[in-house]
Amino acid sequence: MSRTVTYITDTRLLPMSCRPNVAIVDVRDHERQYDGHIPGSLHYPSGTFGNRMSNLVQDVQGKDTLVFHCALSQVRGPNCARMFANYLEERNDDGGIRNIMVLENGYNGWLATGKPICRCTSTSCDGVSARLTA
Ligand SMILES: [Zn+2]
Repeated sequence: MSRTVTYITDTRLLPMSCRPNVAIVDVRDHERQYDGHIPGSLHYPSGTFGNRMSNLVQDVQGKDTLVFHCALSQVRGPNCARMFANYLEERNDDGGIRNIMVLENGYNGWLATGKPICRCTSTSCDGVSARLTA
């Protein structure tokens, strides 16, 4: 039995994005450098995602909800979300992660609807600007 990956809209994600139990996982590759990112998001590029899933489990300790996205959330975002769901299944230890979600329309949709973004260069954004602008 594998976990289901559900979708969430940017409008629903916005108020959740600063909650301590929620992690946003950006699986875009180089675009993150140029286009900014959702404040507080972690950067796990899709190209190396498969090798870094154990790091991600460490990184999201204490979170129960993970929201994946790429630029459009059509290919990389959902693929990584499913890969991670399967990985948790195989580990037999989900680290307390209950919900695996994909942001509908990805970062481009988030940007297009005027949601707050951050342009720091850290791979694990501290989201300070999120709290200032949200
Ligand atoms: Zn940032």
